[in-house]
Amino acid sequence: MNTETSAQNATTRRARRRGLFRTFLSYYQGQVHLFVGDTICALLVAGIDLAFPQILRTLTRGLFAQGADAIMGVLVYLAIGLVAMYLLRFACRYFVVYWGHVMGARMESRMREDLFDAYERTEFLLIGLVEIVGSFIILGTINVPLTLVMAVVLVALVALDVVANLRMRAVFTENRQRISGVNSRVEDSLEGARVVKSFAAEDVERAKFRRSNDAYLDSKVRMYRAMGVYQAAIAVMMGFLNVTIVVMGGWLIARGQMEAADLATFALYISLFTNPIDNILNFTETFQKAIAGFARFVEVLNEQPDIQDAPDARELRVTQGAISYSHVEFAYQKGEPVIRDLNLDVRPGETLALVGPSGGGKSTTCSLLPRFYDVEAGSITIDGQDVRKVTQKSLREAIGLVQQDVYLFDGTIAENIAYGRPDATPDQIRLAAQRARVDEFVRELPDGYETQVGERGTRLSGGQKQRIAIARVFLKNPPILIFDEATSALDNESEAAVQESLARLAEGRTTIVIAHRLSTIKDADEIATITDGTVSERGTHEELLAKNGTYAHYYRMQFE
Ligand code: ADP
Repeated sequence: MNTETSAQNATTRRARRRGLFRTFLSYYQGQVHLFVGDTICALLVAGIDLAFPQILRTLTRGLFAQGADAIMGVLVYLAIGLVAMYLLRFACRYFVVYWGHVMGARMESRMREDLFDAYERTEFLLIGLVEIVGSFIILGTINVPLTLVMAVVLVALVALDVVANLRMRAVFTENRQRISGVNSRVEDSLEGARVVKSFAAEDVERAKFRRSNDAYLDSKVRMYRAMGVYQAAIAVMMGFLNVTIVVMGGWLIARGQMEAADLATFALYISLFTNPIDNILNFTETFQKAIAGFARFVEVLNEQPDIQDAPDARELRVTQGAISYSHVEFAYQKGEPVIRDLNLDVRPGETLALVGPSGGGKSTTCSLLPRFYDVEAGSITIDGQDVRKVTQKSLREAIGLVQQDVYLFDGTIAENIAYGRPDATPDQIRLAAQRARVDEFVRELPDGYETQVGERGTRLSGGQKQRIAIARVFLKNPPILIFDEATSALDNESEAAVQESLARLAEGRTTIVIAHRLSTIKDADEIATITDGTVSERGTHEELLAKNGTYAHYYRMQFE
């Protein structure tokens, strides 16, 4: 059983890696000519770099040994030749850097910056590799023993690099995960800032943030330590390479097995590939980072919804609209239950307001109904049908969702209202808009329903956006409604308009609202207080106040 599982895991990993590589290649699409041009230029740069010490050596041993006249006669041509060579090198280098960046920028617009960085370095990596291999071939023709010693030192360098990199890879990956943990914490508390305040839960939020931030800092320190050890070791090895050449070269010269000019050539070639080695080592470092980042990026893209329709899933048939949560348990992460033994019934057509401290589990409770997540134990039913046994399509068609942050995309107001119902007629759109009280502010806009909104369009207020979202749901006309009330302050007029349009929308539909406003709470047929992932109190506003429990406490803190 165990071996079977690990074999499966290995297969999955292999398939994943192959997928990663293919995804990576796909970003080169349409850039082939640039890529070829870049490669040729990079090879030319490497060739010229390689040729220079060799030319000097030939000169020292041949021409320069022949006396002043011979030298003067050739020097002009030599100078012209060398200048031409370096002009070509300049042009190639320019091409590599300029077009390399342009290509990178084009790729970047399609994927991640880190990978662009890795790509950019690939060019230098190519130059470096050619230079190192070329140097060894040329040096081999000059002096075999010395070249072999250099090769040994270089192999040791590469081995060191591999070992250090394996360590760094682990640390970098961990680091990425930690920072995303911190980011989601920050987003969480920014969104919920007002709720956090109103429920006096600042200390809890602060402690949560501090924990994930500490973990991040800790892994960052380890990352820098790994980097420090790595780079210091490389500097030592490079120094060692120089010492080896000087000592061993001196010894060979003393024994008459090598000329001084040859030792100078060796020294020139070493300085030639100090940079490439640096580049290669830096590259592996950047590459590790990039792969860690890219893997996460692809992971997000490929994220399969875990939730699948049951093989025998049926269409949901809503007759009454009765919702029932029964002994529901749920955890985002194993071992950290968020919802525990939650029981909740919403009668057909009624509005239930969920209240309670931030992080208590209100949003989670709501997201279990359309099956954004699946319960771990217990069940949720709509008119007696378990949500896990119906098709997700029919389930989500039956549920209208108005979220706190309304997202408007680039397009007209009419298009935004018709989102999800592209076949809606202009009359239907207008009717939905009137019911949601969108009509009244749209009429004041010069372009009316054709006004462009979204990132690049007219800015609408939070209340106006929520009314557009409500209009969307009017058009969708689902029997069940989930409304996550905005926590941010709307101006009074806007708030009243949202309130009224929501009340109209809720009419005749079973509604669960995450309520932050007193008016919403008072309008609800019933209220459930959710604390620590379970229903701690339930009743009407008056009943709960009379009970003088949790609800009464929060109510007084928030509204009095
Ligand atoms: P509420 O809506 O009452 O503020 P939530 O349902 O958002 O409460 O959160 C309940 C708990 O679940 C909190 O501890 C929160 O940090 C955690 N939580 C919420 N969403 C996620 C998520 N996507 N992944 C992991 N934990 C989450």
